[in-house]
Amino acid sequence: MRVGVHVRQDDDPTATGEALGADIVQLFLSDPQKWNAPKPHPKAAEIRASPVATVVHAPYVLNVASLNNRLRIPSRKSVAQHAEGAADIGAIGLVVHGGHVRDADEVDAGFDNWRKLFERQEGGFPVPILVENTAGGDFAMARYLESVARLWDAIGEFDPGFCLDTCHAWAAGEELDGIVDRVTAITGRIDLVHLNNSRDEFDSARDRHENLADGTIDRTVLVEIARAADAPVVLETPGIGLEEDLDYLRGALDA
Ligand SMILES: [Zn+2]
Repeated sequence: MRVGVHVRQDDDPTATGEALGADIVQLFLSDPQKWNAPKPHPKAAEIRASPVATVVHAPYVLNVASLNNRLRIPSRKSVAQHAEGAADIGAIGLVVHGGHVRDADEVDAGFDNWRKLFERQEGGFPVPILVENTAGGDFAMARYLESVARLWDAIGEFDPGFCLDTCHAWAAGEELDGIVDRVTAITGRIDLVHLNNSRDEFDSARDRHENLADGTIDRTVLVEIARAADAPVVLETPGIGLEEDLDYLRGALDA
């Protein structure tokens, strides 16, 4: 099982991954709070050649579900651009948050907008799009598994991937016991796990990651999720305890 970390934008992804002994690194290709298209990665050839696998995380600002044209249209464009950038470095996929709409009346159209993302991408995307569950919001597309099921009714035919974030699921109010089976019953697959503890309580709707030993989730529960998912695992925990998290996770998975 590949285990790794999210690397900072100013880090050399391959060198950082190798220094940490990571099998996989996740990176942003542009400022995650902005709409910038990714520039060609200066180390693309090295990254492709490295034994350290990569996965790209799309910017946080995009929301492909939105009914607002001025948000949805650039979001679609951004997904396409980042998928190209991900393919350029040989990444295993592009993680995209489920997004949300503004009220209950818009929910159906939000799922439909996700379908249009795939429908309108002629020839498909060059890497798998990994839809990630999110922590909060009443009208989110992938907070509750019930929503993920509706989302998959809309996009399942395009064979999207799924990224399970444990902090988000917990904060969303989804029981972690058996969650891998409940997700795969809907999506048929888990492509990536974001293994994070949470600073906040169950169903808090807050997205604040914590180091594995320090959050409100028993870390042995997190290890069991990683084991059950049998997919690459990326830690997005605070840098201060990241190496300890990686050591603990490796040891626990080997035990
Ligand atoms: Zn994410």
